[in-house]
Parts: sequence; structure tokens; C-alpha cells
Amino acid sequence: MKILVINAGSSSLKYQLIDMDTEKAILKGLCERITFEGSELTQKNAAGEVLNIKQDMKDHTEAIQLVLKAMVDEKYGAIKSIDEIAAVGHRVLHSGEDFKSSVVIDDEVIKICEKNAELGPLHMPGNIACIKSCMAVMPGVPMVAVFDTTFHSTMPPKAYMYAIPYSIYEQYKVRKYGFHGTSHKFVSEEAIKYLGKKESKLIICHLGNGSSVSAVKDGKCIDTSMGFTPLEGLIMGTRSGDIDPAASEYIRAKLNLTPEELVQYLNKKCGLMGISELSSDMRDLNAAADAGNEKALLAIEACAYRIKKYIGSYAAALNGVDAVIFTGGIGENSVIMRKFIMSDMDYLGAKLDPAKNALREDGIRDIATDDSKARILILPTNEELSIARETKALAFNK
Ligand code: ADP
Repeated sequence: MKILVINAGSSSLKYQLIDMDTEKAILKGLCERITFEGSELTQKNAAGEVLNIKQDMKDHTEAIQLVLKAMVDEKYGAIKSIDEIAAVGHRVLHSGEDFKSSVVIDDEVIKICEKNAELGPLHMPGNIACIKSCMAVMPGVPMVAVFDTTFHSTMPPKAYMYAIPYSIYEQYKVRKYGFHGTSHKFVSEEAIKYLGKKESKLIICHLGNGSSVSAVKDGKCIDTSMGFTPLEGLIMGTRSGDIDPAASEYIRAKLNLTPEELVQYLNKKCGLMGISELSSDMRDLNAAADAGNEKALLAIEACAYRIKKYIGSYAAALNGVDAVIFTGGIGENSVIMRKFIMSDMDYLGAKLDPAKNALREDGIRDIATDDSKARILILPTNEELSIARETKALAFNK
């Protein structure tokens, strides 16, 4: 069975065709600069052969049409006919409070997504456009919406409430939602399998360009660091994460920004990029810090320190921790970040083994010392596979 997974951004569209018998991607592709001049599609098949089509895509519908053509390409594609696609899983940014899990898409679901579009104005219009165009060109093929937020829907009110008037929460649904849910779900399920214990207290650190930590008890999320939008929480590539709202208003006035420009500024100009004034990329910062760049080192240290504090607070929320788990580009690859984050965590019973931490190996692995009470795991995330599994389960009841 082959499942198409679609992950649409405001001007991009990533896709993977996954063979569910092997759970491996047989095609991976990306459409970039949708709605702009100079858009292009790049696709790689399992043999590593790359197809590149430079063709303007004026909207996500045109992008989907090009994707369907590329997938059946005689030389670079992976299927003979679109009919081989059993179902489509769409990553959808925001569920609002309307969905607690993934859903099979029908007209009612689309209507609710359209109502919730204002909660994610950058991504939701692209998500909805992709769903509609797939439904139009692939009639009868089940479509499933897998939301970035629903894994966190098990958070109790005391965790998701902001201290704002209750009526404002009720009227405008302003609360913590959390994001990266497909990754936190995948990683927690794989960790539970690996540890062999369903009753578990896990702290999952998804560290990439966007980053978030979640506290997962017995497989259910009880708290997470991202909030009403992905801006809250950790120091990220270009996002500030937590900041005193009065400080951001002060910056807005000094820089003479509009409210919209301020939100853009906190999302795009801050974080690792802001502190280092050099790069948002951890590899660049590691290299610069090694060469003696103090602001690069400060960015890394501040980022690690914030994560350390979240781990501490989530250990308190969980009343202990069985495993701290690292995933995402930084979590899976940055030896120095894991070292900074996990140093002096004896109070948690978590002891990092420096030699295991420095090893570069594929797959899931344990980098805690043998006598560490809590485990420390590196677990590669696979958001597309997580979406494909959800899609299969919902579309075919298995
Ligand atoms: P996204 O959130 O866009 O999916 P990724 O999960 O791919 O991002 O993570 C990107 C981050 O991972 C970048 O900061 C990058 O520098 C970092 N990264 C990737 N490989 C390494 C590495 N070998 N060492 C340190 N950092 C790395």
C-alpha cells in the first residue's frame, strides 16, 4: 500500500510517497517559491535520481498537479498511475479546539479548517488549498488531516491556560496549543517501544530550526513549550521563544514597527540568529564558537540553558523522568548541545556518557552511562512516516 504525505507551507510543498509494507519513502520531493516567479520542483526517487522541473506554480493547486505528474514520470517517478496511491495524509498546522486527533477529511472538516485558518494565517490557506486540489484530482481516494497540534490536546487546562481573563480564552480561543505534534507522537511511541514500558515519564526535545520540548506521561502529552503559536518556548533558529511581552512592546516602539512587523521580527530576526548576529544554523555557530566567536558561543549556551530549564520544569511536572530524548537536526547531531544541556543533571538521575554522546551512529541509541537512573536517548524523528501511519489507520481502520 502506498500513501502520499503532503506537507504544505505558505509558499512551499514537501511530499513523500511511502510504501507502507516497508515503511520507507520511495519518492521525496519539494515544490518551492509557489506563487512567486521562478518556482521549481525537485524530486528524488529511491535510486537517488533527481528530477528538477522549473515551472511557475501560481498556487498550491498547480503545485499538486505538477507533483502528480512528477510521481508518474517514466524515468524519475515511482508509480505508473496515480491510482496506485491508496490514501493521502495532509499535515495541517492547526486543529483549534475542534479536533482531538487526526480525521478523515470531508466537507465539514474543510469548513472547520477554514474557520480555524486565522489561528495559522501563514500555513492554513496552503494546507486547505492542497486538500481541495487533491480531492478534485483524486476523487474517491481517502484524505486524512493530521494536525500539528492534536498530540498536545491531552494537556490539562492548568497547563494550556494563559493567565488572561477566562472570557477572552472562551471567546477567542487564546491558549497554549503546542506544535510539532507529529514528531512528539512518533518519538514518544518509538521510545515506549524501545524502553518496553507504556507507563513512562518522557521528556522529548525536538531541536531543529524550530524547537520544542514536551512532557509525555504514559504516552500522553501533559505539557509542551510552544504556545498559541510556535513562537513561545525555546530559543530557536530565528525565533526568540519566551520573552517578556512588555520588552517586545518596548522594542516595537524603539524600532518603530507595526504590531505585525513585531511578530515577524520575533519570528525571523531573533533566536540563535539574533544573539549571534551571525547565523541561525547550529553548524555555523559551532564552527564560529570553536574559532573564538563569543556571541556564537553565547547563542549556543543561552539556547542550551533554556532547554535545561524546560527539562527541569517538566521533570517537576512529571514527578521524575524515565528518559530525556533528543530528536530533530540539532538533537540528533549536535554533540556539544547535548553535552551543554545534559551536564549537571545528577539531581534528575540522568548521567550523560561523553564517549557514547560523541559517537556518530544511525538509529535509536542510549547515550546515558550504564549506572544512570534515567535514560538519555537519541531517536531520529520521522514526521512523514508518523503522518502516513495515522492516515493508514484512519482510512483503512488498521
Ligand atoms: P527543521 O526544523 O527545518 O526541520 P532540522 O530538524 O533539519 O530543521 O534541523 C536543522 C538544524 O540542525 C540546523 O540548526 C542545523 O545546523 C542542525 N544540524 C544539522 N546537522 C548538524 C550537525 N551535524 N551538527 C550540528 N547541528 C546540525
